[in-house]
Amino acid sequence: MARPWRGIIAEYGDRLPHVENVVTLNEGGTPLVHAPHLDALTGATVYVKVEGANPTGSFKDRGMTMAISRVVDEGVTLVAAASTGNTSASAAAYAVRAGIGCAVILPAGKIAAGKLAQAIVHGATLVAVDGNFDDCLRIVRGLTDSYPVALVNSINPYRLQGQKTAAFEVVDVLGDAPDIHVLPVGNAGNITAYWMGYSEYAGRRTSAAFEDSAGRLAPVASRVPRMWGVQAEGAAPLVKGVPVEHPETVATAIRIGNPASWGYAIEARDSSGGWIESVTDAQILDTQAMLAAKVGVFVEPASAASVAGLVQAAGRGLVPEGATIVCTVTGNGLKDTATALGSHIVEPTVIAPTVEAAVQALGL
Ligand SMILES: *Cc1c(COP(=O)(O)O)cnc(C)c1O
Repeated sequence: MARPWRGIIAEYGDRLPHVENVVTLNEGGTPLVHAPHLDALTGATVYVKVEGANPTGSFKDRGMTMAISRVVDEGVTLVAAASTGNTSASAAAYAVRAGIGCAVILPAGKIAAGKLAQAIVHGATLVAVDGNFDDCLRIVRGLTDSYPVALVNSINPYRLQGQKTAAFEVVDVLGDAPDIHVLPVGNAGNITAYWMGYSEYAGRRTSAAFEDSAGRLAPVASRVPRMWGVQAEGAAPLVKGVPVEHPETVATAIRIGNPASWGYAIEARDSSGGWIESVTDAQILDTQAMLAAKVGVFVEPASAASVAGLVQAAGRGLVPEGATIVCTVTGNGLKDTATALGSHIVEPTVIAPTVEAAVQALGL
């Protein structure tokens, strides 16, 4: 009989910091989908890790179950998140499960409608800032420094702990680490977390690791992958090596000018022998459409950046023949249908209510 997935804390608790009050929506256990179309484009064997299948539609749930559980352990009753959308959607849902309040500080006018709807329906208090994401994060830090409010952005170390479980799942499905793992990079929490997860499964430690969660258990993987990070051209501080003051990209989830986990991302890149590159908004949107039309997976623009970066690398001859590659597609396309449909005509043909009219319309 199939065993129902219990959420990442129940599944991987022996490799996570202990929490007493587990707040979960049974996140994780997401599909690792083989994509023959991407094999054909790259000459490798390519899988997409479909994180849009998480309870609130993005990988943020993996970190949020840890962060909110910890908040409840500490007796704090209000959490705050600066967010480009998915963090607030996730924080709001997990706060509901925990029975605590949630304040969302977001950049005015820059949030996809679906994500905003999630924060609203889950009852979060929204504050829009006339500024960018980095301004929002600065405000939340200021709030949590002086008031009994817990910060649940990815600089909360428990978030990264939860997010590392995606790397465990990849190894558990493939039997070992892939050769290469490709990720979109915004605040760089996720690339930090995957590198930590892969490293710990191979019996190694990274700087982001907790004392009690690495090196205690026998290794599961024989190796670690190379980490390839992909930023949007208009928001590519890690590629340029300096913060970007006015980050701009259609991929709002990676519209970040000064990543919180900058140093850890460089560590993941350099100690894995990987790279961090950028792609244009046009490449991101083309890849989003390609993933929907050829792979059958509808992702949000930021998520398509990983695959766009892989395709670009293949074009430059950088993809080793026959390599096993996993691309994380971080969030669900349903969160931002306006961007996805931007260039499409969405009016279907209206016909008379008869089979004949349908036959004619379908050209049968
Ligand atoms: C948060 C997010 C990212 C960026 O992840 P970082 O950890 O900030 O690098 C990418 N895609 C989606 C869909 C996200 O929600």
